[in-house]
Amino acid sequence: MKHDELIELRREIHRHPELAGAERRTAALIADALREAGLDVRTGVGGHGVVAILDAGEGPAIGYRADMDAVAVAGGAAHLCGHDVHSAIGVGVARTLARKQTSGRTVFLFQPAEETCEGARAMIDDGALDPVPPREVYALHSAPLPTGTFAVAPEFGHPGQDIFRIEGLSPEEARRFESLIAGLSTVTPPTNSDELARLSEDIQTPGGPLTSFVYAQVLREEDAVQGWVRAWPDSRYEEIRSLLHAQAGPRVRFIEHLPATINSPEHALAGARHLNATLFHAAYPFNGEDFALFLEQAPGALFFFGVGEQGVPHAPDFVVDESAISLGIDAMTGFLRTRSEQPSLR
Ligand SMILES: [Zn+2]
Repeated sequence: MKHDELIELRREIHRHPELAGAERRTAALIADALREAGLDVRTGVGGHGVVAILDAGEGPAIGYRADMDAVAVAGGAAHLCGHDVHSAIGVGVARTLARKQTSGRTVFLFQPAEETCEGARAMIDDGALDPVPPREVYALHSAPLPTGTFAVAPEFGHPGQDIFRIEGLSPEEARRFESLIAGLSTVTPPTNSDELARLSEDIQTPGGPLTSFVYAQVLREEDAVQGWVRAWPDSRYEEIRSLLHAQAGPRVRFIEHLPATINSPEHALAGARHLNATLFHAAYPFNGEDFALFLEQAPGALFFFGVGEQGVPHAPDFVVDESAISLGIDAMTGFLRTRSEQPSLR
């Protein structure tokens, strides 16, 4: 089978899942494979991040990011978000381009700590993009779509997130805020295949029900609540912050805001053409991506990549059809080559 060494690499990573911030072994496997392919490799970037540069001469620099960490589950870690597949595809793309690329530079960003949304910031702060700033940057993420197919949302991607705490509450107030925050949600995650089918339909409908949403999660403690709110479009965060300020006054504290992942329409459409991708017209409400931070540094797009329809990422029954790996390598290699041949978009 084509690319069977990459399937082996994926299995090796899969058998030894490492949590956000602890990707030591995974990063070492990836760095070895990249050095063997002749790339210029820097390790330990923003934690266990790996930056590898493929220099094929004059031409634009194109960035490609793959995440490496596993999902925290009861009793440890498991690759339930497909990052093992993303890593194997990233290495496969690097190896293939190292043989075929004749111009331009490709900057491979193997990112730690995506699950905690800390890795992209740490890599950027540690200078991952400084030696060769990419003109544009891409990534893919596993999705419950037919194996090997792509989807992309021009101008959408993933919602951002507000994380906040309200403290100094009586138990009764804590219960009241719990229900107030839970009540902000306009969407609920799919729990069966019918609901998943409806979600897929909604996301493909221009002007459909997911063009504006709030997804709120809340954890109640004795005298406090902590909330996580994802909203689209970004203006909805303002409404929610004012509501919470009005209700809780100075007791509400906003801990963190993660920006939305917004694909550049031009780059997303260029990808859609090359990858024959389905167009999404909204964001999945339930997940975020700190790839958002790379997109703040350079325009680009995050593609959803079909790994079969057996479970959704993070669900305990999520299973990847490994034949996706070979298809992903070939498709992304072809796409990145077309990008490096583009003098510029305009
Ligand atoms: Zn993921």
